[in-house]
Amino acid sequence: MVKLERKFVEKHNRPFVIAGPCAAETEDQLIETALSLAKTSKVDILRAGIWKPRTRPGTFQGIGEEGLKWMQEASKLTGLPATVEVANTQHIESALKHGIDILWIGAKTTVNPFSMQEIADALKGTGAKVMVKNPINPSLALWLGAIERLENAGVEIMAIIHRGFSDYGNKTFRNNPTWQIPIEMMLLKPDLPVLNDPSHICGNRHLLQSVAQKAMDLNFDGLMIEVHRDPDNAWSDANQQITPEQFDMLVSKLVLRKEKGTDEKAFEELEQNRREIDALDEEVLRLLAKRMEIVREIGKHKKKYNTSIFQISRWKKIITQRKELGESLNLSPIFLNRILKAIHDESINIQENILNPVKLILKLMILI
Ligand code: PEP
Ligand code: MN
Repeated sequence: MVKLERKFVEKHNRPFVIAGPCAAETEDQLIETALSLAKTSKVDILRAGIWKPRTRPGTFQGIGEEGLKWMQEASKLTGLPATVEVANTQHIESALKHGIDILWIGAKTTVNPFSMQEIADALKGTGAKVMVKNPINPSLALWLGAIERLENAGVEIMAIIHRGFSDYGNKTFRNNPTWQIPIEMMLLKPDLPVLNDPSHICGNRHLLQSVAQKAMDLNFDGLMIEVHRDPDNAWSDANQQITPEQFDMLVSKLVLRKEKGTDEKAFEELEQNRREIDALDEEVLRLLAKRMEIVREIGKHKKKYNTSIFQISRWKKIITQRKELGESLNLSPIFLNRILKAIHDESINIQENILNPVKLILKLMILI
């Protein structure tokens, strides 16, 4: 297997790909899907769930240990390594006994520090490679904690997998991508390869291409995608699985961009623009700080002369004037609204704290 590392796409001109059904259902289903996937030559590792952490009881909970033999067989027939999800010591022991030493930890396990510690202890010294999906809730800290427990046990983390975050009432995605979390993780753990799982983010087939593309645009190193020989009749996650042919198309259609583009000279121009932006941002922040300094002075004045903080007539005037100016400078009305409101809110906060310092102490007590 080719080594999965950061900047994989740039180095290999393709994403690192893990593909296979949500769950192993029958020997036939698994082998047929695996053989079709191997034929595409676009897969690095085969996946299938053996124990499924399903949300509701009464649904298919995974085929169990028997499926590990089918995974071994699929691996032998295709020459591709296999990976399964593990959630406890017994899963780890069974997988390793069947020669499956690439394991992934699912979102519903990463979220639980007790489970993560149990897994880290069970994996210690086994030589298994592990991939860690993000926790089900949008917590960078829990994800990081799971990674650290494994690192402390000396376990090799092969990759982390971004599969989106649970969000009540969200209808576009099954799991909100909240891209800033994996991006922050890339900054905190610059050497850890990052895969994207568009299947569990989307929950349906229609958005897969655009989410996978976005992951490529954000320099993810690869993808984990659910593929089934007969998606509509899958025993779990039927809506989001695709056929091996659709998978082949999806990966072929991805546009891969290089960090430096295709032309070094053009990249230097881009860098020049970025330097200008850096300088402008610095100026914007200094100006904002200066503005807030004056707001503080006004606050002190209002306190001395007992003037009310918020004066609707003044606020209306500010909004109208600034919007006119902003629009004449080609800034969009929505953006102007947001930025003016943020500046105004902060100004009021600052003055409130000057006029009512007790409130500030209370706020601090609540925060502590
Ligand atoms: C899976 O990959 O089949 C799975 C259960 O994913 P997640 O842990 O992301 O829900
Ligand atoms: Mn699934």
